[in-house]
Amino acid sequence: MLKLRLFRNLGDQELSFPPEGVAVIGANAQGKSNLLEAIYYLETFRSFRGARVEHLIAFGEDVFRVAGQMVSDQDGRATPTEVAAAYEGSSRRRKVTIDGMEPERIGDAIGRLGAVIFSPADVGIVNEGPVRRRRFMDVALSLNESGYLAALQSFRHALSQRNAALRSGQPEAVVRAWDEPLARSAASVMGSRQRWVSDWRDTYRGYYEEVSGGGTAGGSATMTYVPKVPVDEWQEDGVYTACRNALDVRWAADLRRRNTSAGPHRDELLLALVDGQSEVEVREFGSGGQRRTVALALRFVEGDAIRKAKDSAPILLLDDAFAELDDARRERVLDLMGQDRFGQVILTAPKQSDVPLQGDTLARWGIEKGRICA
Ligand code: ATP
Ligand code: MG
Repeated sequence: MLKLRLFRNLGDQELSFPPEGVAVIGANAQGKSNLLEAIYYLETFRSFRGARVEHLIAFGEDVFRVAGQMVSDQDGRATPTEVAAAYEGSSRRRKVTIDGMEPERIGDAIGRLGAVIFSPADVGIVNEGPVRRRRFMDVALSLNESGYLAALQSFRHALSQRNAALRSGQPEAVVRAWDEPLARSAASVMGSRQRWVSDWRDTYRGYYEEVSGGGTAGGSATMTYVPKVPVDEWQEDGVYTACRNALDVRWAADLRRRNTSAGPHRDELLLALVDGQSEVEVREFGSGGQRRTVALALRFVEGDAIRKAKDSAPILLLDDAFAELDDARRERVLDLMGQDRFGQVILTAPKQSDVPLQGDTLARWGIEKGRICA
């Protein structure tokens, strides 16, 4: 159940989604992405498109409100939860409630919905620079591993302090007083990233192959964590020592460039396509459909991580996910949705023909000028 009030062009509506989900089909600019944006707002209290919160209020209005009620299966008992959020433009006040109660901090309410979203912009994870891929790992880890965000923040703090000391020409002892806390937090961040990638790489490969078809025709894909600081021993002490050594080795260069050059702020998540014996970077050699498939597989992994952490199936929001995929890949994506790895699926497409016929297990709804018709 979703209640919308003055969120973008969606007006005032109450929607009851079928338990398996729905395919929302409508022409360009009718509000399909807005609908998914409203739902995902209840997961992170931000726009998945990076829009400013005041831009989510319907033109000429002052307040929007979104509320979602979902029923999750907790130890065999159907447990309802309501997440509601509102924003008032004039006072810039944000309000969030979980089952009617306001959490101490909005951060405490993040992730309660349990949803993942895939959108066309996600090919950016493949196409853009390593910053985008580090952010992907950071978000996945922050949502699912307690302590990760704190370690990342300590690392960023130590890094910016050390760089500031380097830039302002402080004595060596002042700069290098940061080496210990920097290496400690770096080791923790790197250890988590390494574990995350090795825990999920098979799942990732599985999803890629399930969508591509695998074998000689569809090929396979790998993800590999490539830390900037080379590590032989993945025990925390080993990583710490490697970081301290890297800081020693790079000291002269860091002093010259007035910048810390080695550390997890330069890590890479290498995404490659496997074709027989060869492994090539998707970013350099992937086709449009292969890039899409990689981005989708990463989002599916995110969904699995949520399911593991929350022990309930995540809601999957797919914005125009079929674009650029051939018919066989489209059908395989829908097959995947039919399995119970995912909970409710809400997908959008501009044309009926974009959703394979097989997708008739999902009800088709229309949308016009923000009005959804079931
Ligand atoms: P496409 O198929 O092109 O992706 P879509 O159905 O996903 O289209 P949306 O991005 O959901 O389209 O909606 C775009 C429409 O929403 C635009 O026409 C825009 O004018 C309108 N819109 C955006 N923000 C607001 C707002 N704050 N208030 C009212 N309308 C808005
Ligand atoms: Mg759209």
